[in-house]
Amino acid sequence: MKAFQLVGPGKTELRDIDVPEPGPGQVLLRVTGSGVCHSDLHLLHSEALPFPMTLGHEPTGEVVAIGPDVVGFEVGEHVICYIAWGCGVCRQCATGAENACEHYPRANVPGPGLGYPGAMAEYLLAPARSLVPLGGLDPVDSAPLADAALTPYHAIDRSRALLTPTATVVVIGVGGLGHMAVQILRAITGSRIVAVDVDAARLEAARGYGADETVTSNASAPGEIMELTRGVGADVVLDFVGAQPTLDLAAAVVSSYGHLTVVGLAGGAIPFRAAAPPVGVPWGATYSKPYAGTRRDLHEVLALARQGEIKVQVERHPLTDAAAVLARLERGGIQGRAVLVP
Ligand code: NAD
Ligand code: ZN
Ligand code: ZN
Repeated sequence: MKAFQLVGPGKTELRDIDVPEPGPGQVLLRVTGSGVCHSDLHLLHSEALPFPMTLGHEPTGEVVAIGPDVVGFEVGEHVICYIAWGCGVCRQCATGAENACEHYPRANVPGPGLGYPGAMAEYLLAPARSLVPLGGLDPVDSAPLADAALTPYHAIDRSRALLTPTATVVVIGVGGLGHMAVQILRAITGSRIVAVDVDAARLEAARGYGADETVTSNASAPGEIMELTRGVGADVVLDFVGAQPTLDLAAAVVSSYGHLTVVGLAGGAIPFRAAAPPVGVPWGATYSKPYAGTRRDLHEVLALARQGEIKVQVERHPLTDAAAVLARLERGGIQGRAVLVP
């Protein structure tokens, strides 16, 4: 089969490799869609990976072969794949929080295209436990729900208690994850949504997805957001970039006892000083850096999609164009999500 692999730091290749066979507990999928995430660019530029590794951590597929002891799946069924492949038996995994699996303490939980061979290939081998039936959702365009919707859903869910109708939530970076975050916030909260991006077209699109206000990400953004919140600051700030300027913005506008949640992995830093404000962070504010979501979150994301509450803005490309699509994502040229189709 064809597989788009990371073969060294900054190097990719579309290679021919063997189709794997499902062992106990596993299912073989014919990949129907593989979303392209900004994290694939972080992986592309990372030095310490087990090369070669097939990329692709937003998989949908059709069941084509089933491991000996697997129950509950049928050949021909269309599924989406949960992307944190924990041990399945620890305290966290027992609750469905495989993204916090204790088998990988304080570390990355691996998944398809994230340590295991991923979905930018014709076939994907997955633990049966990770698969959820699509239930009529589009087998190509739903692929990004596995991460671009799951991860913001998880981040938002953790702050649900703060996301009241009187609250303001700031979404920084309305790209692949951010455009889903705006829709999820619109669907499950009554809070006022402020979208922030450097790109005018994305801000315009964010309004269509339910943002109440849009702010261009520049030096005057903190002042604008403080004004929008009567000088109080935002109850929840979700940063889907994680670069120095966005973290500075996030830290400058989060309210006292607010939540600052950093999902983006661009490597910025926020000082946390144990001193009274205005030094360091506001009183009571919580800073966090969540990873992916839980298996239960994925079920809830699929339910929102089936209800028509959220929809990924997708552009489809053939798997053979993977390298060009990654290059375009790096130039900021993809609005919404690109999905590779083998
Ligand atoms: P993307 O490229 O689709 O979107 C990024 C968006 O940020 C774009 O709209 C871009 O215009 C905007 N942006 C860039 N610089 C900005 C700035 N200074 N101010 C405001 N907006 C700015 O990326 P994506 O696929 O949505 O991923 C976003 C980040 O989230 C990446 O760093 C990715 O690695 C990370 N991520 C983390 C997790 C996790 O579990 N923590 C999961 C998935 C992705
Ligand atoms: Zn991702
Ligand atoms: Zn576990």
